[in-house]
Amino acid sequence: MKIIDRLREDKIHISFEVFPPKTDEGLDKVIHAVDEIAQLNPAFISVTYGAGGGTSKNTAKIASHIKNDLHVLSLAHLTCASSTKDEVRNVIGNLKKLGIENILALRGDIPEGMKFPDTNRFRYAYELVEEIKKHGNFCIGAACYPEGHVENEHKSDDIRYLKQKVDSGVDFLTTQMFFDNDIHYNFLYRIREAGITVPVLPGIMPITSAAQMKKSQQLSGTVFPRRFLAILDRFGSSPAAMRQAGIAYATDQIIDLLANGIKNIHIYSMNRPDTAAAIMENLTEIIKS
Ligand SMILES: Cc1cc2nc3c(=O)[nH]c(=O)nc-3n(C[C@H](O)[C@H](O)[C@H](O)COP(=O)(O)OP(=O)(O)OC[C@H]3O[C@@H](n4cnc5c(N)ncnc54)[C@H](O)[C@@H]3O)c2cc1C
Repeated sequence: MKIIDRLREDKIHISFEVFPPKTDEGLDKVIHAVDEIAQLNPAFISVTYGAGGGTSKNTAKIASHIKNDLHVLSLAHLTCASSTKDEVRNVIGNLKKLGIENILALRGDIPEGMKFPDTNRFRYAYELVEEIKKHGNFCIGAACYPEGHVENEHKSDDIRYLKQKVDSGVDFLTTQMFFDNDIHYNFLYRIREAGITVPVLPGIMPITSAAQMKKSQQLSGTVFPRRFLAILDRFGSSPAAMRQAGIAYATDQIIDLLANGIKNIHIYSMNRPDTAAAIMENLTEIIKS
């Protein structure tokens, strides 16, 4: 089944994300986490793709396990900046062979020191979307950035390029993490005005430790609102308290999004079934309503 068909259903959908291990030794542990997350009845589980392409075979393995063994919808991420066009084509062919129908098409970050652009690599995600479409009937997702992508000085350029990406064949979008829902509502308003009509899944990252917060900020450049900073200031040095407060903050964000009519939410669960389960526990009646 294609994710876009699920997103069109008139009900609340919660999806989760996992990342592949850096080495094959870690695979069992990730599979175990995936098995537990699958029990939470997610709309789908997405599997990220290592920036250097080195973990690509594990992304495919995990996405295949989700779909073919657990019978849960899976979304395989695929980045193109750090691989040649032929390498990317091979990965798409392999995903097709494994019966994976849903791909999140990404450019990926440009590795330091790499000559880019390069005629032998796809330059932007929209070029990857065009390539995936040549390989069959995939459902294609892509990334978007409510606070703007770090490489763009002007948010209006970001939205113009996002429109180009969606028009090249994107079925749905997932956002970068954000911690202030008003930023998301404002973004939605601006992209709808620009004529982007595909479903947008807000990406919610439960921050359960001070170290995770620092890393998230470095990776995404996101703004942490005063309310979140107060939580970090008060509970950041107590791991159990910070975990509880981080789960409550993410739950609160999700409830606000649902209360404002959003039906599809993606949770960056980061191989943590305990965190995913704690959030779902907070939403049991809300999801049914
Ligand atoms: C939901 C989500 C999932 C992610 N998963 C992964 C993952 O699994 N692995 C990973 O390595 N990274 C992942 N990333 C990070 C992502 O790869 C980086 O943010 C990367 O820098 C941009 O990728 P993109 O697909 O958004 O690129 P693009 O859409 O190609 O955009 C990249 C930049 O180029 C600009 N641009 C686009 N088109 C044009 C154009 N025609 N002319 C000029 N400028 C243009 C955009 O505005 C943007 O600034 C994810 C991000 C998100 C939000």
